[in-house]
Amino acid sequence: MTPLLKEKIPSLNGLADFESALLRYQLALNKYFARSISRDRFLLIERDARMEMDMRFGYLLNRLQTPDDMQAIRQSYASVLALGPKFEAEMMRPAVNAEAARVILRDLNTNTNNIRTQLDRLQGRLESTSVDGASDVVKEVNDSSSLVHLYTAASLLIALFLIYQFRARLASERKLAFQAWHDPLTQLPHRLAFEQRLTRLDDKPYTVVLCVPDRFDQIVGGIGHRRADRLILEMTRRVQEVARRHAGEVFRMDGANIAILYRLSNGHPDFYAALDALKALGTSPFQLENQEMHVTLSLGASEYPIHSADPADLLKNADAALTAAREAGGDTYVFYSQSLNERSQEKLALEAALGHAVEQGELELHYQPQYDVANARLIGFEALVRWRRDGQLVSPADFIPVAESSGLIVPIGSWILQEACRQIKIWNEGADEKLLMAINISPRQFNHPGFMLMVHESLTQSGVDPSWIELEITEGIMVQRPERTALLMKHLRHLGIQLAIDDFGTGYSSLSYLKHFPITKLKIDQSFIRGLQAGSSDAAIVQAVITLGHNLNVAVIAEGVEEQEHLDLLGAWRCDQIQGYFYSKPLTANRAGEFISRAGEFIARQSLLRDASAIELSAA
Ligand code: C2E
Ligand code: MG
Ligand code: MG
Repeated sequence: MTPLLKEKIPSLNGLADFESALLRYQLALNKYFARSISRDRFLLIERDARMEMDMRFGYLLNRLQTPDDMQAIRQSYASVLALGPKFEAEMMRPAVNAEAARVILRDLNTNTNNIRTQLDRLQGRLESTSVDGASDVVKEVNDSSSLVHLYTAASLLIALFLIYQFRARLASERKLAFQAWHDPLTQLPHRLAFEQRLTRLDDKPYTVVLCVPDRFDQIVGGIGHRRADRLILEMTRRVQEVARRHAGEVFRMDGANIAILYRLSNGHPDFYAALDALKALGTSPFQLENQEMHVTLSLGASEYPIHSADPADLLKNADAALTAAREAGGDTYVFYSQSLNERSQEKLALEAALGHAVEQGELELHYQPQYDVANARLIGFEALVRWRRDGQLVSPADFIPVAESSGLIVPIGSWILQEACRQIKIWNEGADEKLLMAINISPRQFNHPGFMLMVHESLTQSGVDPSWIELEITEGIMVQRPERTALLMKHLRHLGIQLAIDDFGTGYSSLSYLKHFPITKLKIDQSFIRGLQAGSSDAAIVQAVITLGHNLNVAVIAEGVEEQEHLDLLGAWRCDQIQGYFYSKPLTANRAGEFISRAGEFIARQSLLRDASAIELSAA
């Protein structure tokens, strides 16, 4: 090998080795910031990468002695060395200041990017001098003896091979770097990349738009994960297409959540056009293999810098707007406003207070009677939870969704199960006619890994007969995780527990799943009962559900029955059971106990009357 090549090839390799170690170091810090690696793993990789980086840098310094070459690199590298431990110290504090850590990491990333640019420049220079050197050798070879010729040609080949190898390694390291900042499914930059991008906004107005398909969980349940991935791919492709028309930058946050950054203020006419285009994405169906899907989107927007100049707040605000769009029923967009944040503050306060509700005994169960239509007899109760907060009763409609989204539904649901079991045991003990206790189970509670154990414990601790218990679940549960749901339902049925589908007719589902689940009752949602009139479309639905239930051999109960007229219609259509204000509102345990005694008297009277008429008949 000529002296020139001998000198350049190790230098090229040295560059690649240093860049590789630097990249590993940078990745370790970024991953730890995103909490995608544990603290121990971070410390291990970080120490290791730092040692190697130092060693490689020392080697480079020795080989490339021209001060100009290394000056810029040396400066940025010194900053990296100073910022790394600062970042580590910030992240190791008991209360991490995420904002401070983010700023340090941002500076560190800027410095590593500078180093990479300088390394690229150096590499280009070294490669061109190597190739020049190689052609000089070729010239020399022409004038030399054949042995020397052969030797030099071999050296040249080796040199070119090493350059090739070096380039391949750099390419794979660049791929690694790409992967670290991009999502593998869509190849879009991911959440961390988005957060980084937000730290580099100039003074112009920008708007962040977060976008998510409505009822995505239920969609995944219906079509499975593989097709859901295809849906995400197709959706992001459409989002990219429309975002590009308004110079929007697209990022995949997580799941089906997408963020778009527009260089527009949210009052700009172009921005409305951009939003309308996004919203219109779902007007043509998505073709997934042989299935068509209609998808609507919820969009939440927040503007920089008027809503906030801080990246974390900007994102939080857009998120609050997105939540508002979803809560409004989806297929719409919402701009951030201060009141949205106040609402989410209220939600946080509610969540905090709810966290103590069980241990402070603030929850109570009320019980709403259920009746058999044919003989007007009390057959059981639905347990409905109430929260006595500062002396006021809070409706479950206000706190169950919060409990569900925060995960508090698991301990709360466990308490409800135990309390309802304890109560029905008291009422049924020694009674001739056993009553049924219907208990609502929320999706998150049902999907919790400890759910079966919770049910077992409630049964054994209370000593109830499982056939006195009916669990009410919603259609969504069956659609989301059909296999697991079917298995759990089978276990529950095996224990002897009854299973009802609550709010039937309102969910996003196909009727075909009904045959696959061991259901014992359909509960027609009260929205169909409220305005029930013969000949109306609600009447047609109610009649169809009753027929469907009977064909499937399951009982049908109508909830929300308030009027005699509704009762008469439901009786005529052979609905089996009734629940509603017509008979009674939900009652406290004491009042429900009195109700049972009165019902007992009623039954006794009915049977006396029956006996009396039987005597009269036989006498006749
Ligand atoms: P749901 O399970 O469909 O319960 C029926 C709701 O309708 C109850 O409201 C009940 O009071 C009300 N209702 C019953 N009959 C009538 C009527 O004739 N007219 C009218 N206007 N309303 C009637 P509530 O107690 O406010 O509960 C609302 C929802 O909160 C429940 O709907 C259920 O989804 C949830 N929930 C209540 N208790 C629990 C619980 O213990 N656990 C869980 N996971 N969710 C619960
Ligand atoms: Mg219910
Ligand atoms: Mg219901």
